[in-house]
Amino acid sequence: MRCEQCSRKIRGKVYTSITGRKLCDRCGTRLQGRTAGAVGGGGLGTARSTGGWYARVRRAMGRSSKG
Ligand SMILES: [Zn+2]
Repeated sequence: MRCEQCSRKIRGKVYTSITGRKLCDRCGTRLQGRTAGAVGGGGLGTARSTGGWYARVRRAMGRSSKG
């Protein structure tokens, strides 16, 4: 099996991208990092953006409804 990104022979772990491409571990990790940044899915990216959104909502709610 060959990596569809760098077309090198994949040895060991094969990474399947969200679009179904077969990549070597190196390209897969790279792509995953880029995808996570773009989509904001999975882990810290989501947690951070949600936290920011939640903080804003909390602040707005605290102002309108006290007690
Ligand atoms: Zn590769």
